[in-house]
Amino acid sequence: LADYNGASDWSRVSAVVAGLGVAGFAAADGLLEYGAKVTVLDHGDSEPVQDRAKLLETLGAGVRIGPGSTDNLPTGTDLVITTGLPPHQPMLAQAAAQGVAIWGEPELAWRLMQPNKQIPWLGITGTNGKTTTTEMLASMLTAAGLRTAAVGNIGRPLMEIVLDPEPYDVLAVELSSHQLHWSNSLSLHSAAVLNLHLDHLEWHGSAEAYAAAKAKIFQRVQQSCVYNVAEETTRKMVEEADVIEGARAIGFTLGVPKVAMLGLVEDILVDRAFIEQRQTSAVELATIADVAPDESGAGGAPHNVANALAAAALARSFGVRPTAVRDGLRAMRVGGHRIQTVGVIGDVRYVDDSKATNPHAAQASLTAFDDVVWVAGGQAKGVTFDDLVIRNRDRLRGAVLLGVDRDEIAQALARHAPQVPVISIGDTETSAMARVVEAAASLARPGDVVLLAPACASRDMYTDYAERGDAFAAAVQALAAREE
Ligand code: ADP
Repeated sequence: LADYNGASDWSRVSAVVAGLGVAGFAAADGLLEYGAKVTVLDHGDSEPVQDRAKLLETLGAGVRIGPGSTDNLPTGTDLVITTGLPPHQPMLAQAAAQGVAIWGEPELAWRLMQPNKQIPWLGITGTNGKTTTTEMLASMLTAAGLRTAAVGNIGRPLMEIVLDPEPYDVLAVELSSHQLHWSNSLSLHSAAVLNLHLDHLEWHGSAEAYAAAKAKIFQRVQQSCVYNVAEETTRKMVEEADVIEGARAIGFTLGVPKVAMLGLVEDILVDRAFIEQRQTSAVELATIADVAPDESGAGGAPHNVANALAAAALARSFGVRPTAVRDGLRAMRVGGHRIQTVGVIGDVRYVDDSKATNPHAAQASLTAFDDVVWVAGGQAKGVTFDDLVIRNRDRLRGAVLLGVDRDEIAQALARHAPQVPVISIGDTETSAMARVVEAAASLARPGDVVLLAPACASRDMYTDYAERGDAFAAAVQALAAREE
């Protein structure tokens, strides 16, 4: 299968698709379309999984869903497409031991797009900011009049593009470390690593394995490898990558940029990497006020200015003119549950950053406020909270903890910030959020911000971060109604 692509005969391939989310569904659908023999597996049996399985069955797929379904590899399998299972999962380990090819959904899509439908990919990975940056980039490309889509880990599978008869000029692709782990032939036009902090250690097994997966985005890059000047590790990744002859390293920084960087000169976003006229040494792209402007203020926050510079670097590498970069940023809005004000009661502001599912993201939002009652907790995913507590102890007026791993945060607070009052909400029913918000209100003083920045995943209590954020907003509204 090593050389298989969109021009190959797939009818002799027996493929297993493990994981029936939207990406798994699209992968199975596409493989059937190309004539492969397909079996879909999922150890869950939720309604959406059942619906997708039924539809694929009518299209000719074999179906195995429910507990135990992913325990063993069906005999005669040539290829496994995985969309979520960790590498040490027994069936994948079995496939690897037998020399069966294992690809992620982007790898499959990349191959099927070759050689007939070679759409350039501009790729983005990093611990935090992937979705925001991908949306910023798509907005800039659209402003430039290009036919594009934001795809990948962002929620729209790449396989949909493979099967879409509409033409595309270029794709803005969000790639997760999981997807990159299972990629081996991507050759992106340009790619960016936004930042690298500990997350998903349970999945990858170690910090080194996590970093190695992210670094794969730079392999075989054709034009520009975009790194974060503030994070040496991201630049090392570029240096160590095997890129196509002539590809350049481009930095982004919140400081004044040197040559071959994008950065800030006062409040102006400036490009010193992609300059056409010999006379100028820098091109002005936009101002901080142009970055996703809305009343929440999330757009102009430093981490989003950094995201904007990374997106601009990718857009400029594809020839997007400065005015389109600016117009794209102006048209963009940062998505919900990312530092969103959901209520003001008395003189206390309530902010939802439910999407802060790891300590690095929580750090970005804590930094944005002075006096904070911090609402945190959930699934820790194998990371520690000591640094986060040490860096923020002076701004914490109190902390309210929830979720299965709340004691890990409580212990970090006890070790490094014993003066901070902590209320731990023991029940893990979804109704607990009302008590969380009441507890936070009891700790808050006028002028404080109650900030939901959990530093943890949400799956212990909610279906996802959005449901957790919605529960928080609803509890704030209920409290406001009672106070009136
Ligand atoms: P991802 O797709 O990587 O999860 P999002 O754009 O959805 O990223 O943002 C995830 C969380 O990280 C949000 O809480 C957001 O406020 C925060 N965040 C966004 N960009 C950055 C960044 N560059 N550095 C640190 N935190 C960030």
